[in-house]
Amino acid sequence: MKQTFTSPDTKGYYGKFGGAYIPEMLHRNVEELQSKYLEIMYEKGFRDEFNALLKDYVGRPTPLFLAERLSKQFNTNIYLKREDLNHTGAHKINNAIGQVLLAQRLGKKRIIAETGAGQHGVATATVCALKGIECIVYMGVKDIERQAPNVARMKMLGAKVMPATSGSQTLKDATNEAIRDWINNPTDTHYVIGSVVGPHPYPDMVARFQSVISEEVRWQLKEKTGSELPTHVVACVGGGSNAAGAFYHFLDEPQVQLVAVEAAGLGVNSGHSAATTQLGTAGVLHGSKSIVMQTEDGQVVEPHSISAGLDYPGIGPLHAHLFDSGRGKFLSATDDESVQAAFNLCKLEGIIPALESAHALAGLNQLQLKEKDVVVLCLSGRGDKDLATYMKRMDA
Ligand SMILES: *Cc1c(COP(=O)(O)O)cnc(C)c1O
Repeated sequence: MKQTFTSPDTKGYYGKFGGAYIPEMLHRNVEELQSKYLEIMYEKGFRDEFNALLKDYVGRPTPLFLAERLSKQFNTNIYLKREDLNHTGAHKINNAIGQVLLAQRLGKKRIIAETGAGQHGVATATVCALKGIECIVYMGVKDIERQAPNVARMKMLGAKVMPATSGSQTLKDATNEAIRDWINNPTDTHYVIGSVVGPHPYPDMVARFQSVISEEVRWQLKEKTGSELPTHVVACVGGGSNAAGAFYHFLDEPQVQLVAVEAAGLGVNSGHSAATTQLGTAGVLHGSKSIVMQTEDGQVVEPHSISAGLDYPGIGPLHAHLFDSGRGKFLSATDDESVQAAFNLCKLEGIIPALESAHALAGLNQLQLKEKDVVVLCLSGRGDKDLATYMKRMDA
């Protein structure tokens, strides 16, 4: 396959980034996926089942909402793509459904996943319950303590939550445990990765499942404004799946400015940040070559963000390429700026955003928006899960 922004080459490269850097023991599993994913995803029966679930189970299409009071504040036109209204509260369910349906067609009987904050674990457990498939979610011991409500949700949904006890006992260790499980169960198990990261074909596969976001935006915007093309698309980036979905059908439309907002944490140069493109260098993380926050000798640097979903030391290879090529504009927003942007949206529009999505909102302050501009902002999730954090910041 020829490489474009929407399709990596046959080896899974977007420019310099991507590929499949995996242990020998995983070759069989990954090669099976590489050779079959596109054929399965675009087969009519699969499309029909995927689309029907997105409609009747998830509640798609999600609305594209003209946020009038927010628009007035920025003296422009801002449309919110309401991924927060999806079943389970964020965009992650789009990918979880896609991958579980794909796993079924590959004849897999068992689903494994890793989770940090628990959002991807909950989405995966949800779809496994719906389909009656065994689900095992690996999670660091520290995260199990910090994210008790999501652990309870996964258990209620019938998933088994396996504590990862090694290392820092967080996402990276959960990922290692999940990979070990996959190596030991190569024939009956599918590993559901939650963002546009991991070895080829995951970044491309997840981007395609999430591309429903921009597919809807195009016709919704046409209905509302007469044009399918906005001037800007803005999204937050952890691994980059909601951004990849929101950008996808605009990647090859150069007049659309693509804006990715990373988490600056306490400040890009504070030593407590997750602004990967600002701080990172080329390196391999979780099976693909990308931009990684690392020391000179290649040790991954612990990221920090107030939002658990953005607290990741890497970025998907598509985004590394968007950054490297200049096709995407990369901004960052601090913890404080994002919390303020969240409170602002609550008061102006009556919508409580996820802390992750609040970073995209905070990014608006850094754009020189004009009166005629049409901005689509991906509101990736709802803020219910973040209430405890918001409560602590109420008087700030
Ligand atoms: C997980 C999550 C993110 C970050 O993940 P991406 O893959 O970068 O989209 C953003 N927003 C919400 C609401 C999330 O749950």
